[in-house]
Amino acid sequence: MSYDENNIFAKILRGEIPNDTVYEDDAVLAFNDIAPQAPVHVLVIPKGPYVSLDDFTRDAPAEEVGRFFKTVGEIARSLGLDGGGFRTIANTGADGGQEVPHFHVHICGGRRLGRMIAKA
Ligand code: 5GP
Repeated sequence: MSYDENNIFAKILRGEIPNDTVYEDDAVLAFNDIAPQAPVHVLVIPKGPYVSLDDFTRDAPAEEVGRFFKTVGEIARSLGLDGGGFRTIANTGADGGQEVPHFHVHICGGRRLGRMIAKA
């Protein structure tokens, strides 16, 4: 799947749509989800044009992948979630329920989140 430059997170990265930034560096942006599913619900995205985790882990250099996931952990700790715990989710493609085709990791926490996947 080729990268869609008009996806909503690409627009956020270009500053065309506002966001509630939690963290930013040269390679990563993190911001609050517009429709939070938990008391804390942050989205972490690489600034590069990667469609999904599949795409990111295939095409990005290992150093970039490693740095990205280290940053996810740092953000979770900065949000105070490391004591009580938290959940990270990276939905990929249609079966994964991915809605926005720019790779992102959800960090959710602040309450007991229950089962990982509801039974169909
Ligand atoms: P996905 O289903 O692709 O894993 O998750 C996409 C997430 O992006 C959803 O949790 C949704 O609420 C969030 N989202 C969609 N549009 C926007 C937006 O314009 N701003 C923010 N902050 N979050 C968005």
